[in-house]
Amino acid sequence: MKQTPIKTVVIVGGGTAGWMSAVALATVLRNRYEIRLVESDEIGIVGVGEATIPMIQRFNKTIGLDENEFVRETQGTFKLGIEFVNWGRLGDRYMHGFGRVGQDLWTVPFEQYWRKQHMAGKARPLEEYSITRMASKANKFLPAQADLPNSPLGEIAYAYHFDASLYARYLRKLAEQRGVKRTEGMISHATRREGDGHVDAVVLKSGERIEGDLFIDCSGFRGLLIEQLLETGYEDWTHWLPCDRALAVPCESAPVLTPYTRSTAHKAGWQWRIPLQHRIGNGHVYCSNAISDDEAAATLLANLDGKPLADPRMIKFKTGMRNKSWVKNVVAIGLSSGFLEPLESTSIHLIQASIQQLIDFFPDQGFSATDVEEFNRQSRFHFERIRDFIILHYHLNQRTDSEFWKACASMEIPETLKEKMDLYRSHGRIFRFNNELFTEVGWLQVMEGQNLETRGYHPLVDVQTEAGIEEFLEAVREVIGKCVDVMPEHSAYIAQHCKAAPLKM
Ligand code: FAD
Repeated sequence: MKQTPIKTVVIVGGGTAGWMSAVALATVLRNRYEIRLVESDEIGIVGVGEATIPMIQRFNKTIGLDENEFVRETQGTFKLGIEFVNWGRLGDRYMHGFGRVGQDLWTVPFEQYWRKQHMAGKARPLEEYSITRMASKANKFLPAQADLPNSPLGEIAYAYHFDASLYARYLRKLAEQRGVKRTEGMISHATRREGDGHVDAVVLKSGERIEGDLFIDCSGFRGLLIEQLLETGYEDWTHWLPCDRALAVPCESAPVLTPYTRSTAHKAGWQWRIPLQHRIGNGHVYCSNAISDDEAAATLLANLDGKPLADPRMIKFKTGMRNKSWVKNVVAIGLSSGFLEPLESTSIHLIQASIQQLIDFFPDQGFSATDVEEFNRQSRFHFERIRDFIILHYHLNQRTDSEFWKACASMEIPETLKEKMDLYRSHGRIFRFNNELFTEVGWLQVMEGQNLETRGYHPLVDVQTEAGIEEFLEAVREVIGKCVDVMPEHSAYIAQHCKAAPLKM
């Protein structure tokens, strides 16, 4: 079979999605293809999106990032998990810490032994068996120590917080060094070729035509090619996730540099807090049907840890996904492919996952329909599974202080989520479905943290003696405590390895 390779890849948009795609493709395609990126300073980027999950380390490895340089260049900090405040009941506080909880020893997962003790009223809080949760509480940080593979210190899972604008700038520098050609200008329209209707060029307001074989639509919410041109359609999920606006505002840093994101549930939404080296990023995600913009802004400003550094900026969105991410020779990556609110910091991960899928299914001029279909199936799978996990946070609440939370608790949920919750209620069992993003331990921490009771525990726990279980749990807890003791303060770690210079205004 003769395969004709494509020659030119055109990336439309230079936000996080555009530059992540550019640098990843430039690294993988090794100058065998021409890569062009078009962006418009006049339009700008969405400029939020500052918290990540540990999978980003894979991306960083693929593009060969130096961690300390990357953190320094983006005023970044380290992230060990997300603290959730007021999510189960008002006043509740728990953390979804990265990495594992406890240690595997016998037949069934660690938490099942804990659960038996918990049901008997004898267990310590679950967080005491997680190094990332305990380190977060102590504001400490250390990356996984490769020379200590058998210690919790050898498996510390972490991600980053960073300034979104500096991140795009940093990736741009790398991409251009690797041969990506950037064009500044506003795209006025795109043209399609006769016959198969593939896009053959984007045309700038200046009249310049940029031709290509494969177009990556990273134009953000507007979906310039995937929607405005190809009219792919959008699946709306606001009946499950009714928040539709965010107000974002930076504020001055607090005295302690926390190594985690915080999400505080308010009356009709929630507020993020993302600590960076030079400021704290904050935002209030809310449902405009339940509270006014003024009330949302007042709530946001009343809950900052420092003086605001700007006026709140509003971003409107509709939660859901594009019916298809890949249509003809256009692949949508980033906000153009769909939006899930940043409760579990998953959007940048979805960008990374789409880029990996594009590499897996990289086309030739034939654009195989089977490959495209499988790409779209996989994209949908990732989106839907993350959607379920986010719905869980809303649905699993016991709050009675607002109509918003009562409606979330009583709403119909997707069957896939219902099955997961029912299984957990029975004997605390959780199974990861195929390669869905969140692992058993992620689901566990939210279900347990938001008070989902189980009727029992795994019967095979009783194969071990009561004393043996107690001794095992205590040993794990003690080791974690000792490991956290030797970790440095988060701010001290940064000062030593990746302190950023003050920003030039
Ligand atoms: P954009 O940043 O909007 O970029 C679009 C690009 O397209 C721009 O360069 C623009 O100039 C260009 N463009 C558009 N039209 C044209 C045109 N006609 N001509 C030329 N160029 C054009 N994700 C996380 O992982 N973690 C988070 O904590 C997080 N928080 C978020 C909070 C909020 C409130 C929102 C809305 C999103 C958040 N996200 C988060 C998501 C994250 O911000 C996005 O996934 C990420 O920024 C990618 O955006 P993008 O590159 O797709 O779009």
